[in-house]
Amino acid sequence: MTNTNGRFGVYGGQYITETLMNAVIELEAAYDKYKADADFNAELEKLFNEYAGRPSRLYFARRATENLGGAKIYLKREDLNHTGAHKINNVLGQALLAKKMGKTRLIAETGAGQHGVATATAAALMNMECVIFMGEEDTRRQALNVYKMRLLGAEVVAVKSGTATLKDAVSETFREWTRRISDTHYCLGSVMGPHPFPTIVRDFQAVISKEIKSQMLAAEGRLPDAVIACVGGGSNAIGSFWHFIDDGQVRLIGCEAAGRGVDTFETAATINTGRQGIFHGMKSYFCQDKFGGIAPVYSISAGLDYPGIGPEHAYLHDIGRAEYVPVTDAEAVDAFEYLSRTEGIIPAIESAHAFAHAQKIAPTMSADKIIVVTLSGRGDKDCVSVAKFRGVNLHE
Ligand SMILES: *Cc1c(COP(=O)(O)O)cnc(C)c1O
Repeated sequence: MTNTNGRFGVYGGQYITETLMNAVIELEAAYDKYKADADFNAELEKLFNEYAGRPSRLYFARRATENLGGAKIYLKREDLNHTGAHKINNVLGQALLAKKMGKTRLIAETGAGQHGVATATAAALMNMECVIFMGEEDTRRQALNVYKMRLLGAEVVAVKSGTATLKDAVSETFREWTRRISDTHYCLGSVMGPHPFPTIVRDFQAVISKEIKSQMLAAEGRLPDAVIACVGGGSNAIGSFWHFIDDGQVRLIGCEAAGRGVDTFETAATINTGRQGIFHGMKSYFCQDKFGGIAPVYSISAGLDYPGIGPEHAYLHDIGRAEYVPVTDAEAVDAFEYLSRTEGIIPAIESAHAFAHAQKIAPTMSADKIIVVTLSGRGDKDCVSVAKFRGVNLHE
């Protein structure tokens, strides 16, 4: 049942059909049981450490710091996790929970394919059946990830409804879950959807800020002045923010994909251009057309072009605890190249949005200030599209 735990201010909730209610009630009960269970947490920590490669490094970016002149910049290296991004944290948590619930089958949506690959990975590891729903348009754009998912033993279903992209894949996965609740868990990929997903995904991703806090105290003996992360649905950002929310002196900054600019229609900056609405089971901010329909969104970054944002971010925005800033394709591409050249780290184009903002604010801060930027993933997957942005056509 919807309870106060499912709300972040007025946001969140469970705007779903009766048939789906049974599934989320079962999930909520299981999560309430296992989140405090010592064995469950020990097992998850073992998976994090031995399989995913946690804790991820907190790396002092010396050359970038010297070059930009100003605040010290640290990078939280989620790009070094197995499968190359933060997504594995959530997926291992949910797959383990599903196993405990007696489920034998995982289903998930995917846009660019990153969450699908992570889910297929966990399913392989835990010997579970796996079906991934992906917009038909995206299966064409991301053929390599479709191949990887199949290699990992998953079935990939091309979704043809709507615009045949991520939002349609989410809708189709919910439909499939309604059809087959008994043996199936929907492993949702970000802090979105109906309660309890935004809470569950946040809790599994909160390991990021837990580690940042202890690593920063060990390195500098104090908390950072700002934590910056990119925001699609918002899972790596909320994971990076979570253990700092009560530390009012730490600025929390989410970077939205502005695409070609917030004053164009080719953007995915939800807080900066969207309005309150209800979609995919939750109340939050969404990019909408003048009739209140979900607007088509655009970003060079496939991981950030979702028309909504997790309800907890909507709340943190409204109460002024976190800031949400737009970063354009051009700024992200500049940051992608800068970090590659300056630190020898090729970031995911999503993460480059966060670093781009650090590049803007670090020079305005004094040398005794500290910024942490979460590098949500690695950028191998983005080289073709960045090259194309620069007018170079690599073979596909
Ligand atoms: C999926 C993805 C994102 C966006 O998802 P969030 O839920 O907003 O974190 C960001 N970075 C990378 C590397 C991704 O794969």
